[in-house]
Amino acid sequence: MPRQKTLKSVTIPVSTFENAMKQFDQAAARLNIDKGLLEFIKYPRRSTIVKLPVKMDDGTFKMFTGYRVQHSIVRGPAKGGVRYHSDVNLDEVQALAAWMTWKCAIVNIPFGGGKGGIACDPAKMSDGELERLTRRYTASFSDMFGPESDIPAPDVNTNERTMAWIMDTYSMHSLHTVTSVVTGKPLVLGGSRGRREATGAGVVITVREALKHLKMDPAKSTAAVQGFGNVGSVAARHLFRMGVKVTHVCDVFGGLVNPKGIDIESLIEYVNKNKKIVGFPGAKPFDNKKILYADVDILVPAALENQITEKNAARVKAKIIAEGANGPVTPEADKILDKNRVFVIPDILCNAGGVTVSYFEWVQDRMGYFWTEEEVNARLEIIMVNAFADVLKTAVENKVPLRLAAFMVAIQKVVDVVQLRGIYA
Ligand code: NAD
Repeated sequence: MPRQKTLKSVTIPVSTFENAMKQFDQAAARLNIDKGLLEFIKYPRRSTIVKLPVKMDDGTFKMFTGYRVQHSIVRGPAKGGVRYHSDVNLDEVQALAAWMTWKCAIVNIPFGGGKGGIACDPAKMSDGELERLTRRYTASFSDMFGPESDIPAPDVNTNERTMAWIMDTYSMHSLHTVTSVVTGKPLVLGGSRGRREATGAGVVITVREALKHLKMDPAKSTAAVQGFGNVGSVAARHLFRMGVKVTHVCDVFGGLVNPKGIDIESLIEYVNKNKKIVGFPGAKPFDNKKILYADVDILVPAALENQITEKNAARVKAKIIAEGANGPVTPEADKILDKNRVFVIPDILCNAGGVTVSYFEWVQDRMGYFWTEEEVNARLEIIMVNAFADVLKTAVENKVPLRLAAFMVAIQKVVDVVQLRGIYA
């Protein structure tokens, strides 16, 4: 299991939050910042756990555990997704919330970092059970959520429908409709054009910039994509449209390979009908556990964290890793990849397109005036290209990998704001 590391005969879980803190410490060590200030911005400001009783369809009650972490509200309201997965726990949510703080700083949007989740297996729940769970979760955090304080969005196993339930529950408590309390909503409820595609589209903008920097031709490059959900499927489609040959893809059920390149548009049509990639006629079955070692130029992990660790990093053949997922590479793996000259585009830069268009959605909701898809995409393009250039410049100037540079840029931006605001006492 990539989410565990073995110590002799004992297995101890990998702490995702510890990994996020290690990344912070490495970058902080290169900046001349007061130790107390660093401690203030490093740890979450508020972490809350709630019990969520839900009446199941068979009439029994089941207890679930829900989490919301506000890592930082220094630059603006806490912003971050809500994850439904059986492995969700406080450690993971705290790490994901911290990464949101750094991500929002890198793309210069006026948000802090937050994240939430519920430990549950949505595949085993009915629509009614999921709706009741979501509404209870929203009501339990009504003191935290709000357009000025904490704004949820979709993450693993949550989607537009989940956001609609959150928006409706919050609005019922407020006694008026509050669209800007969540992003990633359906268009008719105040969603933004381009939001569904934004994360994957942003990932591929950073891949394009990396290919330019490394003087590689997209038309002569190959790619593998782990995960075929919101981020993975859109990233694969944008790579395909850019002329990259996507030879390997996988989801939790299985993998596909076609050395001539998979027709991603047809695969997406197939998945829309069949809900999974397995059985697609345009490629052969492939062991999904081996996708990380595919002999390709570009690897896009777009599933879960802690996929590339010190145990398997040396087996990665790709020249570029574009982190569509949050935290797919551990700090120990980073060292091995760096030694092997793999160009890692870190999550807090690579997948920041999602939160960028979430910001656009929040702006549009508050104006009550909505942009065309072309306007959204043009603004996204500018922000992602500038963010990539800022991070690359810092990396080149300091002779450090992109992740370290990204953290340096982000930490400095948060510290600058704290210093201007001062510490209230
Ligand atoms: P999703 O639920 O839409 O898709 C997840 C995909 O990963 C599914 O195809 C699933 O089958 C696959 N998967 C899960 N476990 C796997 C495994 N062990 N091996 C192979 N495939 C596996 O989720 P998403 O929204 O696409 O999020 C994916 C990642 O991207 C997460 O790390 C998330 O935090 C990150 N992210 C998402 C957004 C967003 O806007 N949705 C933004 C930034 C980052």
